[in-house]
Amino acid sequence: MSNQFWSDIVGELKPYVPGEQPKEGLFIKLNSNESPYEPSPKAMQAMEKAIHGGLALYPEADATPVREAVAKYYDIAPDQVFVGNGSDEALAHVFNGLFRHAGKHILFPNITYSFYPTYAKLYSVPYKEVPLADDFSLDLTPYLAASSDEVAAIIFANPNAPTSVALGLDKIEQLLQAQPNIVIVVDEAYVDFGGETAIPLIKKYPNLVVIQTLSKSRSLAGIRVGFAFGQASLMEALVRVKNSFNSYPIDRVAQAGAIAAFEDEEYFQKTRKMIMDSREYLMAEVKRLGFQVLPSSTNFIFMRHPQYDAAKIAAALREHRLLVRHFKQAPIEQYLRVTIGTQENCENLVNALSEILSKGII
Ligand SMILES: *Cc1c(COP(=O)(O)O)cnc(C)c1O
Repeated sequence: MSNQFWSDIVGELKPYVPGEQPKEGLFIKLNSNESPYEPSPKAMQAMEKAIHGGLALYPEADATPVREAVAKYYDIAPDQVFVGNGSDEALAHVFNGLFRHAGKHILFPNITYSFYPTYAKLYSVPYKEVPLADDFSLDLTPYLAASSDEVAAIIFANPNAPTSVALGLDKIEQLLQAQPNIVIVVDEAYVDFGGETAIPLIKKYPNLVVIQTLSKSRSLAGIRVGFAFGQASLMEALVRVKNSFNSYPIDRVAQAGAIAAFEDEEYFQKTRKMIMDSREYLMAEVKRLGFQVLPSSTNFIFMRHPQYDAAKIAAALREHRLLVRHFKQAPIEQYLRVTIGTQENCENLVNALSEILSKGII
């Protein structure tokens, strides 16, 4: 698969494959870890207001008002915040701006966010995958033993995806202490559902980058806003890359929505609690149906059934108009990743699973 007009690298790329986005209404989407709840009403109002004022003009290039609002929220400085068009863009700039060192490679877990190998290919960053422990927890040993002569960076999601398992902040700090000459990137896309953020550690560790997003816990996947946090000199590398690529990645509507979302703490707390409560319900119910479920600190669960094939369960759920995510890759090919929807969505899922398993349809 290639074309004479393509740049050399294009045929080599392995583009990320997102979860299916079907036509609205036909399916209950439990396959992309989006929030089942609308964004904060205050964020909606702020975005409506932004639509009616100033769209003929370019937005604030470095999203400074957003950086100030988020810095205040986390009690850090605005120059310790970088805003990207989704955290995927912030991650891309991290790969491009911090990971490309001649003769060095990067490390990440063999089971993690599949955009990491994609970006590594795009930016020609050599990488090695480090196996997770048998229980899918992250074993620090190989990362603690890495040599900074060979390894430029370590990146992982915490809590990890698609496994949903979290690593304690004490372990992150242990790694930072052991590896002062390696960039450590902690992708906290799901941290608001029960993890502990490493943001307070950026003051102490000049090699730490933390990534967060508004796409999951703040119900704003549709406006594409994500962050990198770190000391100002690291953030400057990302700004330099951004301004060599697209100076205005966050539009005016997105900036207004992001600021208002951080100001509506009450709505944030309410919706994330509803999701965590539904998660506990769903976990208990699927266990009752015989599924094995990993401990989850995220807005999804990762589960397998000892008797039934995961791909077949996913196909049967699709017949019930429920979409879940199945990864065809070893050693997780018998697992399903199920996003926590509304309580009603979770109940629908339990009913469908119960019917599928009891009727022996698969
Ligand atoms: C969803 C997700 C992201 C991407 O989030 P966006 O801000 O929507 O680009 C990044 N990392 C992980 C681990 C995710 O699951």
